[in-house]
Amino acid sequence: MKNHNEDKMIISVKAYHFKDLQNKLYDSDWLDAKLIIKNENKIQIITLEFWLVEELERLQNWLENISENKFMNKTLDFIDPNLNFKLMKRSNKRVVKAIYQLNEMNKIVWELLVTKENLVKLISEIKNILINFPCRCGFKHELN
Ligand SMILES: [Zn+2]
Repeated sequence: MKNHNEDKMIISVKAYHFKDLQNKLYDSDWLDAKLIIKNENKIQIITLEFWLVEELERLQNWLENISENKFMNKTLDFIDPNLNFKLMKRSNKRVVKAIYQLNEMNKIVWELLVTKENLVKLISEIKNILINFPCRCGFKHELN
């Protein structure tokens, strides 16, 4: 997904962590994923720890709630403790930030202006990943 500065954030999923594992809670839905953030001319590629199908669904759900002005937490956390998404206000504009904490001092931030069009695009990118990597665990996912 590209923002207004041409900076990009991509969640790249290449495979399930366990190729043929069905019906196991968490492990069946474990994805090998990378977070790619391009800010200006700098590209950073981060391996996400224990990234699950469910977390993509939670991200989709969170963005849909923002889009529909439903109540949602301002911060979305994941199992990977270094990653979160935040809904923030800057001057009078709303932005969604993807924040990856590299260490205590440094973080990578990518931000997207909250517009209907931007959210539709980002949500559709997430849906496309989920089409290729659907739930295999057979358990009900917790989306909030
Ligand atoms: Zn599942």
